[in-house]
Parts: sequence; structure tokens; C-alpha cells
Amino acid sequence: MQRKKIVIGNWKMNPMTLKEAEKLFAGITKLLLKTKKTQVVICPPFIYLEKLKKISKKISLGAQDVFWGEVGAYTGEVSGEMLYDLGTRYVILGHSERRAMGEKDGDINKKIKSSLASGLRPILCVGENIRDENHSYFNLVKTQLEGCLGGVSKDSISRIIIAYEPVWAISTTVDRKDATPEDFLEMSIFIRKIIADKFGVKTKMSNIIYGGSVNEKNVGNFVKHESTDGVLVGNASLSQEKFSKIVTICEASNS
Ligand code: PEP
Repeated sequence: MQRKKIVIGNWKMNPMTLKEAEKLFAGITKLLLKTKKTQVVICPPFIYLEKLKKISKKISLGAQDVFWGEVGAYTGEVSGEMLYDLGTRYVILGHSERRAMGEKDGDINKKIKSSLASGLRPILCVGENIRDENHSYFNLVKTQLEGCLGGVSKDSISRIIIAYEPVWAISTTVDRKDATPEDFLEMSIFIRKIIADKFGVKTKMSNIIYGGSVNEKNVGNFVKHESTDGVLVGNASLSQEKFSKIVTICEASNS
């Protein structure tokens, strides 16, 4: 049976005010009243989570990071337990923008394990900065996966969503290029094989989604393949019309 597709909006450090965040979230909620077959997740900045939770039960909420400690002397950090208590159910980890600020696979690994222990579903981002002729980007993604997933149990692996986000295709990358659905399919097969070998699970057990300048015009090409489990959307998730169209197209591809 085909799995429900998942569409995740990463709002990054947007919008500027709580009022704008509530308006955008309420607008998306209204446009998606009829959505049944697609799992929709919005990841706003931490400070908006509690208020947005009250607007819709249907749209799930995710955080954009988490700390690995449970509670205590960690100034400035937020734990998985705290996020879960607010109603958050997902967390983006290892995003390229956080890796660029110094986050390493070892840090992400600790965060994945503590998120799972708190009941959050990690959305693990992997992807290379550039594509080289020697195809060493395959090795890079393999290293990221092995570093981030070390010590994760076989039972937990199906709770992790892996987002392949080639950094060269993300909308804010200077001189960005479009990734094709074939680029994604090839990498998703590779990732499925690594997970299957490492955890002894069937290749179809992993949830693998694509991220990198997804919009209402190109999403159909990415999700038409049954093996694509969904998309992670940055810039276009800040427009209620564009984001809702993306979900509607995924919804149609589910049937
Ligand atoms: C992202 O940064 O996670 C992302 C997918 O961004 P965009 O859709 O804007 O390329």
C-alpha cells in the first residue's frame, strides 16, 4: 500500500511577528480543510509553536532544532521534552544552515537520539554542497548518514524522515541550480540501500523526502514517483497560496 505523502514547511526565521505567523498559519489551515491523504507539518520558530498549536489540530507542528539534554544548566537551549509538552511532534535536524554554523554529525546524532526518546519524529537533512565529476557526493551523504544515525535502534529507524536537500539547489544558495527528479530518485535509492544495509530493514521502510526550491510548479514532478515520500519546502512555505497548492498536488498524487 502507498504511504501517505508528507509535506513539511520550514519557515526558518520567519515571519517577523506573532500576528503574521498566526495569519499565515490560519490561512494555510483554511485552504487545507479538505486535505485527508497528506501529512502536513509546519516548522515555525520556537516562540510561535504554542500559539499556533491552538489554531489547528490537523496541521502538525515541528521545531527547527532541539537540544540533546533533558533539563538543567544549558543556557539558551530547548529540550525535546519541552517541545513535546507544547504539542510539537517533529523536529528538523542537521539542516544545512545549521551545519554551516558549525553543527557536526556527532551533535546531530545526540539530538536525534534525544528527540526519539522524547517522542519527536526527527526530520534529518542530508545533502552535499556541490556535485563533482567523481561523484564523491555519494560518499559525503553516506558519511552524514552514518555519523548521524549511529546507535539508533532498528525499531526507531522508521520514525526518522530523511530529507535529501542538495545545498546547491536550495533557494538561498548563490548561483543555485535546479535539481531534477532524477537526481533525487538516484540519491533516494542510494539512501534506501544504506539504511537497509545498516539496519537490516526493507528498503521501502525508510521515509525519504526531497527539499531544495520546491514550489507549486515543480512539486508534481518530484512526487509523481511512488517512492518519493514527500517534500520539505522552505521559501514557498511562507506563501499560503503556494504552500497549499503544493499540498493539493501531493494529495492528488496520493490517489
Ligand atoms: C530548506 O532550506 O530547507 C529549503 C528546502 O529551502 P527552499 O525550499 O527555499 O530551497
